[in-house]
Amino acid sequence: MKYGITGVSGRMGRELLEVFGPDDCVATVSLEDEAVLDRPEVMVDFSRPEALERTLGICREYRSALVLGTTALEQRHFEALADLARTVPVVQGYNFSMGIGLLKMVLRDYSTALDDWDVEICETHHVHKVDAPSGTAILLKDAVGRDCPTHSLRIGGVPGDHSVSFANEGEVLSFGHRALSRKVFAMGAYRAARFSLDSEPGLYDFEEVVRCALKR
Ligand code: NAD
Repeated sequence: MKYGITGVSGRMGRELLEVFGPDDCVATVSLEDEAVLDRPEVMVDFSRPEALERTLGICREYRSALVLGTTALEQRHFEALADLARTVPVVQGYNFSMGIGLLKMVLRDYSTALDDWDVEICETHHVHKVDAPSGTAILLKDAVGRDCPTHSLRIGGVPGDHSVSFANEGEVLSFGHRALSRKVFAMGAYRAARFSLDSEPGLYDFEEVVRCALKR
């Protein structure tokens, strides 16, 4: 699979290069640089929302699929993604781990049974993370299906911890997820890239990649 990376010099970019294999990387974009040596079948973007226009330009020019993990996207970015998705497969996700994909499904299925319980979300990330709350915390709140307090910590080098706690006067029910390293997100991006090569044009959530993996 010939692929390209936007954000190649970043923390996630370095993990992606290792997991996808450096030999097949034919396009790289970073704040400082841009190089396209061959047609990428898929572009993988874990960078900043400001970089998305450059990634979309490459996808349009080379008809490359897109795997997008960048967080803090705004409505206009989603509109641009929907536009690209008319011609190529686009997989977007704020968390490319299997565990968070599964947790979202569980919350969506069972949160209504806990409608009269309190619920709060906590997330912890490394000090370099620029957005808060995390994109994952936003997804988890959406899966819970009601507004709830969200707490963010930025300490040390934590790749990503999330918990959702429900409580009433008598009991506490907590769901927690810990990414042990960034590699887990790069492995999810690799799954998503493979998925995109087998898919029709369209905008896919990473959860569809998780569902597809569960069926196997
Ligand atoms: P980082 O700061 O280490 O790297 C950012 C990269 O983006 C660098 O290569 C930088 O050169 C590039 N960049 C910045 N602005 C640019 C621009 N205008 N044009 C081109 N390139 C530009 O960040 P990171 O820790 O690697 O995280 C990158 C993104 O991935 C963040 O949005 C983060 O929240 C997200 N992320 C998502 C997941 C997920 O599973 N979806 C997991 C981890 C991180």
